[in-house]
Amino acid sequence: MTDSASEAQPVETGRSPAIGYCTHHHGYAGDVRLIDVVEQGSGPGYALRACGPCRAAYNLVPLGDRP
Ligand SMILES: [Zn+2]
Repeated sequence: MTDSASEAQPVETGRSPAIGYCTHHHGYAGDVRLIDVVEQGSGPGYALRACGPCRAAYNLVPLGDRP
């Protein structure tokens, strides 16, 4: 009776849906990319992330796609 442990595992099939929190429309969405990291003088700062529609609406370029 060790099946219960495997059932609790998240499904990792190699395909990443990249679901994350979009800080632009304040909700979870697919294809969320890191846009920018805001450094704060005190504290760890925070990350700005945007989903596909928000990137198109605000002309956002993901951090990893910049030259
Ligand atoms: Zn969004």
